[in-house]
Amino acid sequence: MLKVDLHCHSNVSDGVLAPAPLAAYARKGGVDVWALTDHDEIKGIKAARVAAAEQGMRFVPGVEISVTWANQTVHLVGLQVNEDHPALLAGLAATRSGRDARGREIAAQLDAVGIPDAYEGALKYVGNPDLLSRTHFARYLVECGKCDTTTEVFRKFLTEGKPGYVPHRWATLADAMGWIRSAGGIPVIAHPGRYKFTQTAEDVLFDEFRQLGGNAIEVVTGSHTPDQYATYAEVARRYGFLASRGTDFHAPGEARVEFDALPPLPASVKPVWHDWF
Ligand code: AMP
Ligand code: MN
Ligand code: MN
Ligand code: MN
Repeated sequence: MLKVDLHCHSNVSDGVLAPAPLAAYARKGGVDVWALTDHDEIKGIKAARVAAAEQGMRFVPGVEISVTWANQTVHLVGLQVNEDHPALLAGLAATRSGRDARGREIAAQLDAVGIPDAYEGALKYVGNPDLLSRTHFARYLVECGKCDTTTEVFRKFLTEGKPGYVPHRWATLADAMGWIRSAGGIPVIAHPGRYKFTQTAEDVLFDEFRQLGGNAIEVVTGSHTPDQYATYAEVARRYGFLASRGTDFHAPGEARVEFDALPPLPASVKPVWHDWF
């Protein structure tokens, strides 16, 4: 059976490996079909495609778009996108453009609790202020000894109610789906189990997603607990959604799940890649 992994991050966004070493790492983890899905950016795709071919993997060009839905952040993965499509490029650029100002506010809040220079500290992990992510702040807080791990950082900082949390308005679901579909891609709701919606709100999200032409969700992801694999397999069955699978890998050692440790999709769901090969 082909090992398909359709969600991971390079150092173009908040991963640590460049696309080529990331492709080699995924291959070492047994991956046969691989997607790069950096946050709000497709710049790594061309290098990733070349590296995937060198590794003997099939490549799937992807992206993970930050969306605000019902006042919460929801991530939408786009698979099989044309990375040169102007509507997608313009939409991603608009989505990224708020990250610099948000990063400065995050740093100001951290400064107020005695952690200076976090903007510069976080920025050196990514270089481009438009791609500045909370992950880069988390790495900086570990680097300067405030926390032992990035998981601890997200418990104590950067999340709702904690220092360094700055609410942000990302793309709308309709816009992000439009960009992905214009670029020939398949929109997939990323790690649905991560959101803090009531059951009712979650159902409204899936209904709205379906009305906008969506028909795939992540079921097995490094961002779900094993219990959630079964929960969202059942959701996929109920809604008639296709199912996706991917580690959501960011960095060796930092990963919740390594490439070779993620289980396959349950047999009860139809894979989003069922008609790709
Ligand atoms: P941003 O898009 O800047 O808000 O950053 C979101 C990123 O932070 C996610 O893609 C994850 O990589 C990371 N992240 C968010 N929450 C957590 C968490 N609880 N533990 C580890 N990483 C997290
Ligand atoms: Mn991330
Ligand atoms: Mn995500
Ligand atoms: Mn991700």
